[in-house]
Amino acid sequence: MTILSVSFLLVCAGFLVGTVTANPVPRENALVLILMDGFRWDYPGFDGMTAFKELQTTGVHAEYMEPIMPSLSFPNYYSLATGLYPESHGMVGNIMYDKVHNELFMMKPIENISQPFWWEGAEPIWTTATKQNLSVSMFRWPGCQVDFAGVKPYKCIQYTKIEGVDEFRNDLNRTLTEIRDKGVRLGMVYVEHSDYVGHYKGPNSQDLRTAITDLDGVLKEFIDTIKQDQFNNVNMIVVSDHGMQDTTPDNITEIELGAILDMSDIKYILDTRAYLGIIPMEGKLKKVYNVLKNVSGIDVYKKDDIPVRYRLKNHDRIPPILVTARKGYYIEGVEGTDKQVPPEDPSKDADDDNDGVDDNDPDNFNGTHGYDPINVEDMRGIFYAYGPAFKDGYTGKPVSIVDIYNVMTNILDIEGKPNNGTWDNVKDYVN
Ligand SMILES: [Zn+2]
Repeated sequence: MTILSVSFLLVCAGFLVGTVTANPVPRENALVLILMDGFRWDYPGFDGMTAFKELQTTGVHAEYMEPIMPSLSFPNYYSLATGLYPESHGMVGNIMYDKVHNELFMMKPIENISQPFWWEGAEPIWTTATKQNLSVSMFRWPGCQVDFAGVKPYKCIQYTKIEGVDEFRNDLNRTLTEIRDKGVRLGMVYVEHSDYVGHYKGPNSQDLRTAITDLDGVLKEFIDTIKQDQFNNVNMIVVSDHGMQDTTPDNITEIELGAILDMSDIKYILDTRAYLGIIPMEGKLKKVYNVLKNVSGIDVYKKDDIPVRYRLKNHDRIPPILVTARKGYYIEGVEGTDKQVPPEDPSKDADDDNDGVDDNDPDNFNGTHGYDPINVEDMRGIFYAYGPAFKDGYTGKPVSIVDIYNVMTNILDIEGKPNNGTWDNVKDYVN
């Protein structure tokens, strides 16, 4: 243990223990939902993990969590928060075009993605809980800033890009303070670290090992803290939105759309890599489809032909053509055009992290997700939980990300919205 973390624990313990009451009064269940972006299902078994090992013996976990298709962040964030598939909640991709509003969703800027119409296809649990008079605190959770017809959570520290785990540790401690001192019942904490490093360095890199070990270390501190009497009403769920596939250039076949498509036929290409949508110009659908269907390594669908099991096609935001990459393939977007959304041009804000490296260059993008989770095992994520509402040392069957919603409403004793989750898939996890 480092000197830094020892001193943190002392400070933390002093602060938290200093206000403990002698005989804690039993309180209603509280829930801390921790979302670790891009934390793959097999990471907890890597050497050096301590918190996850402890959760395996003292809490519950699923063999793995299966994300919905596409195995991308925003669609899965919202399936987690609503229990719905994308065609019902409307977050059908990380990059979307809404023809009613003639707007593009590109995960940023925050002003654009905060427009309620992107989110109003379904009501997330934080809004439902708030409406039923529960206090909800949210740290860095994408969407907490959105105004749902005047309803907002009690506390929202909105998403900003943060590297490392220091802020994650602070956010967890702030959440516990909110629960203890302010009566918060649902605390939602988002951390991006494993996704960022997985993309940038790849899931097989030493940097990724360090990143997940650091996250595990913070989680261990958190578990130790909630084992104190003053937090005996606190339950925790640790879940991810998807996994991560190694896409280092030597291990994949790249498909260059720029060499395949005539861009005068194209209005927009929405996203790249594993899952993308194409909006052709008027009258060009057939031509574009016919060109793409002969490309090996990808599957191309007209909207009506998208497999039913993807639960995508019945939504207005699904583009006329959907393209998915098969395992081992990687689709490069088209450089130098605004028709590629977001633009691939390195001069257009591609260096998000200001490290002088183009984040959109596939050579610098060594991990990817978005593939069909049925066919690509590495898309799987995690579901772990611990606390008075959960069994001890129970390992269960795989769960879908849409199943977790019902666990949360059960613990919080609130009335959930109709959803696609199956209670039978998760009932054995809870007491
Ligand atoms: Zn993600």
